[in-house]
Amino acid sequence: MTERIFLSSPHMSGKEQHYINQAFETNWIAPLGPNVDAFEREIADYVKMTDAAATSSGTAAIHLALELLGVGKEDVVFCSSLTFIASANPILYSGATPVFIDSEVTTWNMSPVALEKALKDAKEKGELPRAIIIVNLYGQVAMMDELVKLSEEYGVPIVEDAAESLGALYKGQPSGSFGRFGIFSFNGNKIITTSGGGMLVSNDAQALKKARFLATQARDPAIHYQHSVVGYNYRLSNILAGVGRAQLQVLDERVNTRRAIFNRYVEALGEIEGLKFMPELEDTYGNRWLTTFTLDPKKVKVTPHELIEELGKENIEARPVWKPLHLQPLFEGCEFYAHGTDDIVSEWLFETGVCLPSGSNMTIEQQNKVIKKIKKVLILKMEN
Ligand SMILES: *Cc1c(COP(=O)(O)O)cnc(C)c1O
Repeated sequence: MTERIFLSSPHMSGKEQHYINQAFETNWIAPLGPNVDAFEREIADYVKMTDAAATSSGTAAIHLALELLGVGKEDVVFCSSLTFIASANPILYSGATPVFIDSEVTTWNMSPVALEKALKDAKEKGELPRAIIIVNLYGQVAMMDELVKLSEEYGVPIVEDAAESLGALYKGQPSGSFGRFGIFSFNGNKIITTSGGGMLVSNDAQALKKARFLATQARDPAIHYQHSVVGYNYRLSNILAGVGRAQLQVLDERVNTRRAIFNRYVEALGEIEGLKFMPELEDTYGNRWLTTFTLDPKKVKVTPHELIEELGKENIEARPVWKPLHLQPLFEGCEFYAHGTDDIVSEWLFETGVCLPSGSNMTIEQQNKVIKKIKKVLILKMEN
């Protein structure tokens, strides 16, 4: 069997070991230490925010953001529907109620039209949400001008889930820097990784100070162990932060490589009728974390599932686009706001979308193999 071609696998730079060794030599084997401090500073600088707090995961960072915004049992939180479950699980941790917002077709991210409808309704009911979690899928930033404007108009803060979009730009501004809080993930499949980890960023240094407090069991300043509020064990290890520092140094290279992989897919497959790649919004620069496309069922006789299965036979990992959260059994009965009146955009993307192997450590030969197989499956079927 040939080696498996993954969707997105860890890609080390070779410099990680240096920082890990440093942690060992100084015995900073703890969820704090010089690598954590430096990694926080470096990420904050990279995304042009004043401060950052390193966490054990991106999910933990979202949970802390909601806690800092005071989200509790009586509250509603809006969230993009087309995303990974981790975007919304923290809403449940906080005991709040999620309302899901549809996508629009130009970025696949939160629809400002649907968000406006939802905000208008909420205001009429006197139940404005405590926060809006906006996700930047597959490395592309959402329509931030429109979304930020609505957030300001209704006075509801944004938590930007930029777990998949570190290194992306929107009109020159870094992804993750549009909300009151931004979050990143360094899980093994993300564009840079610490094997597991996350980051909470903000221009509110006071809030991040509180985040660090909550993330270390909320210990009151006393020599004995004293606690007045619920805390968590959410900090990042100093060893893993060292991995993150080395990874951050090659982030721009990783973005370039993923964009080049995307461009090669487009060159090879862009002419196929009914196959449409995820667009890139004008004046934005995505990190193309994953190359994704849709297959128009009216023009292509192969379903995404058939294509994914065929690729699987060659030991190539491909996947459908995220299943919208409003369709998940976990969120049955939750409110949902669609973009339009006919088709639901997020459902259509789920039904027609495919994610391709896009890791920055993929070889040209591996990519050619993926391309060849896709062509074979799609074109053969068309001729039948
Ligand atoms: C990966 C991911 C997360 C969660 O990050 P973890 O570090 O795995 O907890 C959150 N949101 C999105 C959109 C993600 O892709």
